[in-house]
Amino acid sequence: MKYAGAATLTALAGCSGGGGGDGGGDDYGHEVPHPDDGTVPEAEMNAQALNGQERPDEPNQGKDAVGYAHEPSGDQYCGNCSLFVPDQDGDGFGACLLVKGKVHHCDYCNLWSSYTGDDVVECSA
Ligand code: SF4
Repeated sequence: MKYAGAATLTALAGCSGGGGGDGGGDDYGHEVPHPDDGTVPEAEMNAQALNGQERPDEPNQGKDAVGYAHEPSGDQYCGNCSLFVPDQDGDGFGACLLVKGKVHHCDYCNLWSSYTGDDVVECSA
């Protein structure tokens, strides 16, 4: 719960829209592809996901293998996935228990798992 305030601010900032229109990511206000893809900052390396589990050093899923998309799938997105590790260092990106690299809360993959707690990181275009 210690990250709830920062996560909320990040959610608002990260999803304020960009309107690029050349791919889903631009509509959700973040860089596509993500910077430093495949790695995460120290702050998120072993941080806690929304489901309370600690992130392992080396998640084993690459983004290509899980149908990673830089936009939500309907009302399903990383910020309301139980495997999401919210942004810990204020760079606008979090991480994932299973998928390598930085993860934006407005992104999505085939491993999505519903989370409905109070600390969901909301996404809207
Ligand atoms: S939707 Fe996929 S990439 Fe996003 S947090 Fe969930 S499992 Fe990780």
